[in-house]
Amino acid sequence: MKKTRYIFVTGGVASSLGKGVSIASIGALLEARGFKVTIQKMDPYINIDPGTMSPFQHGEVYVTEDGAETDLDLGYYERFTNANLGRENSVSTGQIYDTVISRERRGEYLGRTVQVIPHITNEIKNRILLLAQMTPDLDFVLVEIGGTVGDIESVPFLEAIRQFRLDQGGENTMFIHLTPVPSITKGGEIKTKPTQHSVKELQKQGIQPDLLLCRTNAQLDIELKEKISLFCNVAKTRVFSAPDIDHTIYEIPQIFHSENLDAEILRYFHLEDQGGEYLLNLNPRLAKWESVVEVFRSPRRNVKIAVVGKYMALHDAYRSLYEALTHGGFPSHTEVEFIKIDSEKVDAENYRDLLKDAQGILVPGGFGERGVEGKLLAIGHARKNKIPYFGICLGMQCAVIEFARSVLGFANAHSTEFEPDSPYPVISLMEEQTTIVNKGGTMRLGAYPCKLREGSLIAECYMQPTIHERHRHRFEFNNKYRSAFENAGMHLTGLSPNETLVEAVELDRKLHPFFVGTQYHPEFKSKPLSPHPLFTRFIEKSAGL
Ligand code: GLN
Repeated sequence: MKKTRYIFVTGGVASSLGKGVSIASIGALLEARGFKVTIQKMDPYINIDPGTMSPFQHGEVYVTEDGAETDLDLGYYERFTNANLGRENSVSTGQIYDTVISRERRGEYLGRTVQVIPHITNEIKNRILLLAQMTPDLDFVLVEIGGTVGDIESVPFLEAIRQFRLDQGGENTMFIHLTPVPSITKGGEIKTKPTQHSVKELQKQGIQPDLLLCRTNAQLDIELKEKISLFCNVAKTRVFSAPDIDHTIYEIPQIFHSENLDAEILRYFHLEDQGGEYLLNLNPRLAKWESVVEVFRSPRRNVKIAVVGKYMALHDAYRSLYEALTHGGFPSHTEVEFIKIDSEKVDAENYRDLLKDAQGILVPGGFGERGVEGKLLAIGHARKNKIPYFGICLGMQCAVIEFARSVLGFANAHSTEFEPDSPYPVISLMEEQTTIVNKGGTMRLGAYPCKLREGSLIAECYMQPTIHERHRHRFEFNNKYRSAFENAGMHLTGLSPNETLVEAVELDRKLHPFFVGTQYHPEFKSKPLSPHPLFTRFIEKSAGL
């Protein structure tokens, strides 16, 4: 069994410093040097998972292959690395307590008092160790501790990783602290005090960081690094700047590499002299990342995509979707611009005007009736004017409803989610969902196989007959109406292997250049180095290619 090393990343002073992207970029660099990595997120909230939270609270709910509803940072981990993430990669305080309390109810603590130390901290440590046990050839487990050092909620996690070092030895564990080094006035003096304070806070928890990643809008010079080093008790060669980016987050692996961050990490773990295999001067295979960044630096064209959804005020609410659209532009060197349209504000008077610049229209997934009529107007506009349309989950269901009402003449056709008594319930509840009461984790979740119809547009995009895509929904296309749709030109070109569930629809190619709806969420599987074929085709068609 290989020796696994552990890298913990904490954050100081403020949230939204980019911990997720930073750790994902470190993962990408370690992979580029031939190591096998996985990344785990520890979320201090008491919810079991973010599945029941509003996207306005924590951004999108990311879904893994095995159907876990997780924090959106797992999306970054998967986009930046080849790690296969699952349920075990996403841990919350709620899960930890749930496990410990269930164990207590079963009498497994044999009469002892159950306490934060050692019972909660042991369970946290078990979750970290579990990843290495599941994948014996793992070189690195990277663990992101959510929240900010100093928060009450993070304390048990910090205590657990402090103990973890004691158990595993300093040579096998590394603590990285991400902390801001801001300038208060524009272009003014750079301040190291917030970093000093947050390192002190960490030290109070018994953790001395081994490496500092300083979020700054400038490059730190040697004097500043020396100052930070002195006050924070971290060698100056291990003080790194994580500067603001010019174009894209996909530059970050290269930025880190140009500062030798990956080399320093290997040096820390004494991996540089492993028979020459991971020589420090070995240039990681960064060329692919470079080609991605190149598209941002000098795109050949740009294309405007209208995203018509409910949570437009928060980019994170559809994070994977925007990323996947952006990736879709890479193969054709197309820069994708978003026209974000709040579907609640779309009405029969204004929709043409709102959509006048849209070269492609996308309706994302969602729940609840608010804004549905606006989405239907946008979809009708795309369908009638042959503007490329891509509907995802609720976006597919809405495309079905719009087609039923406008083309099939099914007045008041609807989803039973919104209108239980609709005369034409073209979208309805899956049989096994009708008796479910609990909200958390009870949808159809995770990857399922889907058969694509030979000769369809969608099969042509994927270039394979069977695909596996991730789901997160309760409602389905109502099979009663299959022939009505087929006969009128909306083809059901993706089906579950036993043909009971409609997974994808498309308009006949004679009627429309690109009009596709998927019950699943393809955006979760798109990566910058391997853009998703449906997004690629959608962007190409929208750009008129
Ligand atoms: N609300 C719809 C359903 O549950 C769509 C879900 C989604 O778009 N993720 O089926």
